[in-house]
Amino acid sequence: MQDDVEGNQGGDRARLEQQQVELTAELAVHQRALRQVRQLRADRSDDDEHDPEGAPLSAEWSRIERAHRAVEERLLAVRAALTSVADGRYGICERCGEPIPAGRLEVRPTATRCVACAAVR
Ligand SMILES: [Zn+2]
Repeated sequence: MQDDVEGNQGGDRARLEQQQVELTAELAVHQRALRQVRQLRADRSDDDEHDPEGAPLSAEWSRIERAHRAVEERLLAVRAALTSVADGRYGICERCGEPIPAGRLEVRPTATRCVACAAVR
């Protein structure tokens, strides 16, 4: 039978699940940071949005929020990849249908295209 393929898919899934765990932990860190900034803002400014102390906090807030969104996007990509592992579509280029080299998937487990197709828009 196809024991090699099965073993390989198990490795892919394990790697993706590991990433999912890591990204989820990162999200939790961001959520805590965002809560802290919100708390600080609430403590410092009564109702003045133009409070001089408010600007650095706003900048900090947008920085964390940007990082938060980036992690969320990566998490979505990891979930999509896990779905394609379950469907048996994982590691197949979505554009040309050729297998994506294992080396590329090791570096970018959420890659949905082979190197050649990734360069094409
Ligand atoms: Zn391709």
